[in-house]
Amino acid sequence: MRLVFVGPPGAGKGTQAKVITEKWKIPQISTGDMLREAKANGTLPQDLIEKMKAGGLVPDEVVIDLIRARTEKDDAKGGFLLDGFPRTVPQAEALTKLLDSRGQKLDIVVALDVPKELLMERACLRRTDKRTGQIYHLKYKPPPPDAILEHRADDHEDVVRNRVDVYEKMTADLLPFYEKAGLLKRIDGVGDVEAVTQRVVRALEQVRG
Ligand code: ADP
Ligand code: ADP
Repeated sequence: MRLVFVGPPGAGKGTQAKVITEKWKIPQISTGDMLREAKANGTLPQDLIEKMKAGGLVPDEVVIDLIRARTEKDDAKGGFLLDGFPRTVPQAEALTKLLDSRGQKLDIVVALDVPKELLMERACLRRTDKRTGQIYHLKYKPPPPDAILEHRADDHEDVVRNRVDVYEKMTADLLPFYEKAGLLKRIDGVGDVEAVTQRVVRALEQVRG
């Protein structure tokens, strides 16, 4: 199973990706996580740190190179879930080319639909446990008292608003691109986590049985 999760910031991609990758036993590949890791390791150039802090996208070549290297690893040979990549049509085209060169193709692109008002609340109250990477929400999924919480630098209201705007501009082209390819499945991302998971699982079972 090779699939992509598309959706605005805070839509629930990371949360759903964790459940799906456990069920299908494939790695979750998140360009956002890889970039944050590079920042933590001190290997992310300063101009890219600034881009992320402001909620803009990093250049296509940067994320394409990350994806090329990561999908070559052994654990990704049998499939993978891409979370937050591709985000632009050039990234999507590069992915198609990369998979073609390996005789592979995508099975499905899942787009999580969540209205703007909800995104603000989901992203701004998101917290992650530094040690486990577990995603919490101060209102919908309260962390345990012993969690060591991190609040992402870009999960503040003005930056989230900018990220949502950036997302809307870039998906204007991306979703029709995958619709034309017959790969797009739009899923309602409103409701509790389990209800959304059920919708995603149903869509994946339709393509792979
Ligand atoms: P994304 O990866 O798309 O940015 P996350 O999966 O990190 O989104 O979710 C954003 C925030 O919303 C997190 O705090 C998460 O706990 C919470 N969340 C995710 N899905 C739901 C849901 N269905 N209902 C309520 N809160 C959710
Ligand atoms: P979210 O889960 O909230 O949608 P991500 O963790 O996927 O956010 O991404 C965080 C930031 O990392 C983005 O705002 C952007 O700066 C950068 N980034 C991640 N993936 C990509 C990508 N495919 N193309 C360009 N920039 C990216």
